[in-house]
Amino acid sequence: MANLNFPIAAIATAPGRGGIGIVRISGPDLRPFIDDFFGQPLTPRHAHFLSFKDGQGKPIDEGIALYFPAPHSYTGEDVLELQGHGGPAVLRRVLQRCLELGAAYQMRPAQPGEYTQRAFLNHRLDLAQAEAVADLIDASSEAAAKGAMASLSGAFSQQINQLADQIIHLRMLVEATLDFPEEEIDFLEKYQAGEQLEHIQTQVNTIFAQAKQGQVLRDGLQVVLAGQPNVGKSSLLNALAGEEIAIVTDIAGTTRDRLSQTIHIDGVPIHIIDTAGLREAQDQVEILGIDRSWQEIKKAHIIIHLIDANQIDATVEQELRQAFPQKTPVLTVFNKCDLLNEQQKAQLPTPENGVGYLHISAKTGQGLDELRQTLLNHAGWSASTESPWLARERHLHALQRCTHHLQQAAEHAQYDDQILDLFAEELRLAHQELTEITGEFSSDDLLGEIFSSFCIGK
Ligand code: GDP
Repeated sequence: MANLNFPIAAIATAPGRGGIGIVRISGPDLRPFIDDFFGQPLTPRHAHFLSFKDGQGKPIDEGIALYFPAPHSYTGEDVLELQGHGGPAVLRRVLQRCLELGAAYQMRPAQPGEYTQRAFLNHRLDLAQAEAVADLIDASSEAAAKGAMASLSGAFSQQINQLADQIIHLRMLVEATLDFPEEEIDFLEKYQAGEQLEHIQTQVNTIFAQAKQGQVLRDGLQVVLAGQPNVGKSSLLNALAGEEIAIVTDIAGTTRDRLSQTIHIDGVPIHIIDTAGLREAQDQVEILGIDRSWQEIKKAHIIIHLIDANQIDATVEQELRQAFPQKTPVLTVFNKCDLLNEQQKAQLPTPENGVGYLHISAKTGQGLDELRQTLLNHAGWSASTESPWLARERHLHALQRCTHHLQQAAEHAQYDDQILDLFAEELRLAHQELTEITGEFSSDDLLGEIFSSFCIGK
């Protein structure tokens, strides 16, 4: 766990040049440091226009200094923001000077996510909100940014906490009954525990469905575009992306390396990986490209098997198909259908395995809407289920485990109302899963994993 005793400093603005650049410092008591740096105290939450000076007293930059005393700051500690000019060299010098002067207070450069981690440890945010900070920064679509902001303001945590409170209430009833066995009350009947449990289960299911939508909005879908050379993979990628990103030529094997492009359909990110022509490679570069293609194929949620509808070599396609990982769903897509008449289209083969087939033209755009819709469906996106907040895979797993424990509890209640302690234990476990989402009960390993994925200065 990070040591909270010493101050940390980092450049908080993005690398590169900008109008304004900010160095942020957080620590338990920054007043002595502020006196050293400016030779004067700062009024809390007031904008002071000051000179930021080096060790010889020469100005490095001038700008606004803002002091937020604990606990009313982002981290819950004292925070000092130095807002100067946004150039990398000048910001590095300001940071360097802070660390030099801060050495007396054991100030050190901040780790990735350390400000937000301190905010979490000081109870300014719960874990789901802290994750939402990173998600808001990383959001690649407006819908994702909106969802992340809703999570950050606590919409998701609130649902989880309400659910947890209901489980706590039920747990208290069970514990009370266990403590006074001589009273011989029929616990389940007296408190309608069965009904309460059912109600909780329904709510978990609703939250899970919403969280699933939130997770799709955050993580999207990994799609592999596979097929023989020249079937139109690059053309399809370009058509879906709406911009030229792959080189399209008539010469087989031009897509030498994997190319990944993220497009958004209804705000859902679809990560499409174009593969090198999956044929016997001749040269080293092609062999490398093909190798990587197979690595991507193994990780995909769905494979688009693209076939030139005008030149179908059933044996070759069959071979390619057999090489796909067994578990990954395959959508067969016949391309270049603009070159076929209706009769020819009707004669196209109907693939038996896989999740279905489509007739498209990357050139004219025919069938592309249907393809987009199929991908959305596959991602688990339903436009009708409201997705008020962003969620992560880990939240879904916790909700699933919670559901499992609630089911176990229900079974104990149904078959043996004497075994109240088993019922109680399952409720305790279900409750614990929920607290893992908000971080009341989370291992140091998990916290380390979450915060290390942040950027420095956040
Ligand atoms: P890749 O090797 O699979 O990436 O194939 P390309 O995207 O480079 O396309 C190979 C050739 O097929 C190019 O000349 C494209 O213009 C052409 N092509 C791609 N899609 C279509 C389509 O839907 N209709 C027609 N008529 N030509 C297409």
